[in-house]
Amino acid sequence: MNFNELGLSEKVLKAIEAAGYKMPTPIQAEAIPHALAGRDVLGIAQTGTGKTAAFTLPMLSRLEQGRARARMPRTLILEPTRELAAQVEESFVRYGVNHKINVALLIGGVSFADQEAKITRGADVLIATPGRLLDFAERGKLLLTGIEILVIDEADRMLDMGFIPDIERICKLVPFTRQTLFFSATMAPEITRLTQQFLHNPVRLEVARAASTIETITQGLVASAPGSAKRETLRQLIRGADNFKNAIIFSNRKRDVALLSKSLEKHGFSVGALHGDMDQRARMTSLEAFRNGDVSLLVCSDVAARGLDIPDVSHVFNFDVPTHAEDYVHRIGRTGRAGKLGTALSIVTKSDQRYIDDIEKLIERKIVWSGAMPDQIPDGDADDMPAERGRGASRGGERPSAGRESRSRRTRTAREATVRVPVAPVDAPVVEARPQPARPASSATPAARSTRPPRDVPPREMPRDIPPSRRANREDDDRPVLGLGDHVPSFLLRSVKLK
Ligand code: AMP
Repeated sequence: MNFNELGLSEKVLKAIEAAGYKMPTPIQAEAIPHALAGRDVLGIAQTGTGKTAAFTLPMLSRLEQGRARARMPRTLILEPTRELAAQVEESFVRYGVNHKINVALLIGGVSFADQEAKITRGADVLIATPGRLLDFAERGKLLLTGIEILVIDEADRMLDMGFIPDIERICKLVPFTRQTLFFSATMAPEITRLTQQFLHNPVRLEVARAASTIETITQGLVASAPGSAKRETLRQLIRGADNFKNAIIFSNRKRDVALLSKSLEKHGFSVGALHGDMDQRARMTSLEAFRNGDVSLLVCSDVAARGLDIPDVSHVFNFDVPTHAEDYVHRIGRTGRAGKLGTALSIVTKSDQRYIDDIEKLIERKIVWSGAMPDQIPDGDADDMPAERGRGASRGGERPSAGRESRSRRTRTAREATVRVPVAPVDAPVVEARPQPARPASSATPAARSTRPPRDVPPREMPRDIPPSRRANREDDDRPVLGLGDHVPSFLLRSVKLK
């Protein structure tokens, strides 16, 4: 199938040619004709399948008729994270080179004023994260009654981040007669319910299950003791990685992202960080530095990295094994993109082993172990980020040197006992010791190296109906915390003696 058989306009076809695309991807070939015909589309597809163009290209074709009015955007695209929203904006720039369209981005963490000015001018395309969009709508600065096409992207991630109530509210603010294009990598019951409620007779399209789209990625598991030994294992993997160009490193917790990146920096790696507590400018700077090659490592949390389209990532390291098997598929999908080969290595401690079982079940294959299994490895130093935590705990005061010494001796012992240079099994990545490829920290841009950016945007309050497990994921919120937020002062927790 060819792009010019899909019914796209001349201007769009020219832009596709300029982008160098020869053939539509399966989701594009299937979705574009229906989207052009005005049908609702339910696309089950993950990032990397070309789904952004699957909705952007027909939208551009359809936007050629009519024009935007002040405060009344014509189309709305909802994205779970700011980075994804910015990425979709880039797609409109790329595919819309031959169009005169106004694209506005409404995301948390940047000033209201600039965003308001764009909306007031009239936007053909509004790309937004749910929180900031509702803020605008509730303040009466935005009318959603002119929306002709609504795109809900990465719906499963919206669910993880607790955005479903927001999405429901937004769907009620847009006209009933709009066209809806809905994309999700997986179909949890809540997502199915949402589609039944808000899509009208959709065409259901499914491209290769998320789990089966990872043929270009060599996967491996490496056992390690927890704590400092794990960081040493990571360093060895980076230094010994074959065909290393750059790597995304995943940590399960936001606070560990900054700590781990600082630790890597201290060991001479060029490293940036990306997590939801960073302000938008710092996030974009880190991402740009990684994209440009100014830093070769990017330490990320799941939410911040979800769906990022960086075409040439050679390695993914799971510093922590993800506790949700689906996150594993999304994480490793950051490498091996656009037909390139990639390597994804996960560091596994004894307590992580149960998650590996779930992952292997989901991807329907066994992942090859390099070296020993976790239960053959002594526990070592179980302290999480000891050096950094020690510094934080001392709050400016030096720890007693005897304590430091004994700590470092313990750490050394743990490393010697637990770090293994993995031997390469048949289809696992070859990992051998060799000089580190990363540039010294001093060569990274200062902004990209700043791993603890200022937090100038307070988090949004969590909706009450979000289960605690999902609340933890809401990194992109920007609603002000009410009262004390989640914090309970310790004096309130003290037991009281009743007379
Ligand atoms: P997405 O799934 O939308 O994140 O797209 C993943 C990557 O595929 C992006 O870098 C796109 O530029 C690229 N891409 C999208 N459509 C095509 C196509 N038809 N041919 C080649 N590359 C494409």
